[in-house]
Amino acid sequence: MVIRSVELETVAGVTSALPKNQLPEVAFAGRSNVGKSSLINALMNRKSYARTSSQPGKTQTINYYRINDQIYCVDLPGYGFARVSREEKEAWGKMIEKYLVTSEQLAAVFLLLDIRHRPNANDKQMFDWIQYMGYQAIVIATKADKIKRSQIPGQLRQMKEELKADEDTIIIPFSALTKQGREDIWDLMDQVIEN
Ligand code: GDP
Repeated sequence: MVIRSVELETVAGVTSALPKNQLPEVAFAGRSNVGKSSLINALMNRKSYARTSSQPGKTQTINYYRINDQIYCVDLPGYGFARVSREEKEAWGKMIEKYLVTSEQLAAVFLLLDIRHRPNANDKQMFDWIQYMGYQAIVIATKADKIKRSQIPGQLRQMKEELKADEDTIIIPFSALTKQGREDIWDLMDQVIEN
């Protein structure tokens, strides 16, 4: 995929209407600090489209990146940041829920998990939720450069087991530093565009 243009449209707050568009969408979900902003920037080949979070959990927005007028990458708010109030957590949940329930063009959801850690309760809930809503859940194991290459297959296998994921669930190891996995993610997006 050759990126010719990226346009950012931001939707803020639970009450805002989500854009009704004709292009297919893929969404990115994950815990705060998992590396979602870094991944989106790496995908777009840009340094700073998505803000890397010095203040995790701060932004409760859904960011739509329209790429080449072909596909939207939808950046969902990061979840599970411990130091936010219950109200904020609920607002987050409502926003994600509203998006998953109402988006008509959503084709797949990439769930980001840190390759070093076991998925926690929130991660598992998110994984189950994506599938319950009828979407393909694709796992991206982030920060792959933080472990030895030889450890990667074992970590991915363990992740799959913890999530009770089907054998055919796709898990892509990714590093924003080395760009490992970027082409695999673009290939999946190309498939979404072609379908
Ligand atoms: P977000 O909260 O999910 O958007 O996470 P960020 O993209 O802001 O990343 C959180 C922290 O992890 C930052 O300090 C990043 O520099 C770091 N980080 C993100 N991706 C990677 C990666 O692939 N490799 C390494 N080594 N660090 C990463």
